[in-house]
Amino acid sequence: MSKVQTAAVAEARINELVSQLNEHSYRYYVLSQPSVSDAEYDELFRELQALETEHPDLIRSDSPTQRVGGAPLTGFKTVQHRIPMLSLDNAMNESELVEFDEQVRRFLAKEGLAVDVVEYTVEFKFDGVAVSLAYENGELSQAATRGDGTTGEDVTSNVRTIKAIPLKLRRDPEPSGIMEIRGEVLFRKKEFEALNEERLARGEESFANPRNAASGSLRQLDPRETARRPLWFFAYGIGVVKSDDRIISSLPSKPLREAMREVEACGFSISPGFRTVKGIEQLVAAYKRAEEERESLPFEVDGLVVKVNDVRLQERLGFRQRSPRWAIAAKFKPVEAVTLLEDIIIQVGRTGALTPVACLKPVRVGGVVVSRATLHNQDEIERKGVLIGDSVVVRRQGDVIPAVVAPITSSRTGKERKFVFPSCCPECETPVERVPGEAVIRCPNPHCPAKLHNRLLHYACRDGMDIEGMGDKMVALLLEHDVVKDLPSLYEITVERLRALPRMGELSSQNLVSRIAESKHRPLDRFIFALGIRHVGTKTAWLLARHCKSVESFLGLTEEELLGIEEVGPETARSVSAFLANEHERSTVMGLLRHGVRPAEIVPDRSKVAKLAGQTFVLTGTFSSMSRKDAESKIEEFGGKVSSSVSKKTNYVVAGESPGSKLDAAKKHGVPVLTEDELLAMLG
Ligand code: NAD
Repeated sequence: MSKVQTAAVAEARINELVSQLNEHSYRYYVLSQPSVSDAEYDELFRELQALETEHPDLIRSDSPTQRVGGAPLTGFKTVQHRIPMLSLDNAMNESELVEFDEQVRRFLAKEGLAVDVVEYTVEFKFDGVAVSLAYENGELSQAATRGDGTTGEDVTSNVRTIKAIPLKLRRDPEPSGIMEIRGEVLFRKKEFEALNEERLARGEESFANPRNAASGSLRQLDPRETARRPLWFFAYGIGVVKSDDRIISSLPSKPLREAMREVEACGFSISPGFRTVKGIEQLVAAYKRAEEERESLPFEVDGLVVKVNDVRLQERLGFRQRSPRWAIAAKFKPVEAVTLLEDIIIQVGRTGALTPVACLKPVRVGGVVVSRATLHNQDEIERKGVLIGDSVVVRRQGDVIPAVVAPITSSRTGKERKFVFPSCCPECETPVERVPGEAVIRCPNPHCPAKLHNRLLHYACRDGMDIEGMGDKMVALLLEHDVVKDLPSLYEITVERLRALPRMGELSSQNLVSRIAESKHRPLDRFIFALGIRHVGTKTAWLLARHCKSVESFLGLTEEELLGIEEVGPETARSVSAFLANEHERSTVMGLLRHGVRPAEIVPDRSKVAKLAGQTFVLTGTFSSMSRKDAESKIEEFGGKVSSSVSKKTNYVVAGESPGSKLDAAKKHGVPVLTEDELLAMLG
């Protein structure tokens, strides 16, 4: 392609991207009703940035790369910011974070300030709405949204209803002037869900995420409406400090960390885990750890904000068009995407639960293509107000099954239709049942083929009887040809019978038969788990096996006895005793025993269990030889308990690299602190 042609192609794409992104921004900032996920927006934005870097002469003045946020809403008075409220540049992964650190050091070196190890503050990037709060002589005088960065909306009356924002500073570092605190107004996850439910019940549109909910709530024309919304606030910076009409500094004169401690003393909450790290290695460790902690926080965060701690260095680094050079938002992997809900189907699980599953137009979320997501149960579909044909927000995090979060009600065309929950099991046509007080609808037929399929799979799974070769396809084949009709009949399978099935050779048939035979003597805890009792996972199965020691005594367990077993709750006790009282289930277990299944008694390694018995541990920071999850399982395996917060009952805090506030809490409570090596030594 010639140079002229390349430029023409680039120009057309730039025009297209600018108009798409501006439309998305309008829906996002002004209407609080986005129609694409943030990750999708970011991808388009980056494509535009790359094209503009290549063709700087094609940069349009209305390009979103040239400005911050969206236009202020009409209906509010506008506020001119004393100092612009900028955006932040993004690092999408670890290597971009490394690049940021290199850029900072390169820039400083050019300025004649070679710094080998830069000190950074780290804090969560809250997913809410930025506001600037002006305190005049210690009293809240004006609150403004960021708007387009230069001009925001005056939301003082609304902000005054937010309980986490002091109307008067507890301590005023600037008693005869103006002090501006900047931070984020946000919704907590639980309260966001409750708000959406309430809105749907009233026939109003739901919000796609807590950020939009916060933005919509803050920009209510009637402050009484804002007052009804449980909004929160976290401070992340100081805008301007002004005395006798003279700006003393646009930045705090102390290191950022100290300035933020002062902001805390004024009566504000700052980011949990706010701290400083030195150099890129600690920074990357903090980023990884923050991503791990993300899900356990009560509010949404989408990254870690990294700022140069030394204010003199910040001043040297200065600003770009729309963001400071001394800060970056290191984004976490996206967990949400928007896509089309094409259909809802029903899956029947091993306990007979009918689970509605969303069939989605395939969409990438955090690097994985998602085409199915759970809708949990009928109540959930109604609560969320999801219709077939809706654009929906899908969330996928870690190992959790993807779930539909909310419909984008503003994108409806009128062609969407309500899902009607079936009254009969889609697999065996038995009328379904709903146990009063439970959300789950079940197929009561013990011979339902879907139930049997999933039960067999569960029975044979690795944590269960561990029968290699009994995967989804094999189970389907065995059922299709009536080779098995229940769990005990598994042990009647012969090599000849298998050989007669399509695609089964002599060797694979022999292998499967011997694997099935081997499974007869698995330890009791695996056997109990393999039975597929509701609420009985591997840990509970182990507790039950340790208590019972034999299948016979397991079969004789009463609800009272179950309740007496440490860590077995009432729901589990009820479920196990219902299982044991069920004639069909009992005859299944008896049938297995008749076929020679003789689970081995588990002999807990007493020396192991005794090691940490009765001791409670709290973990903080990252470990070099294992993940936090592995460390937790290790401690539990040795009889210890792991708790998430430090209290008087904590015996040890184990601190890895870049420990968080739990280390401070340990010091405060006088709890002994162990290193990773010391923990390993303790475990022998
Ligand atoms: P941003 O949200 O990526 O980052 C800047 C903002 O982060 C600041 O203004 C501040 O409000 C906030 N912030 C949160 N915690 C902070 C902390 N601890 N310290 C400092 N600042 C903190 O940038 P932006 O300009 O507000 O928004 C751009 C982003 O918005 C895009 O990356 C995209 O993800 C999203 N967006 C989405 C759509 C859509 O249609 N889905 C449209 C427009 C923008």
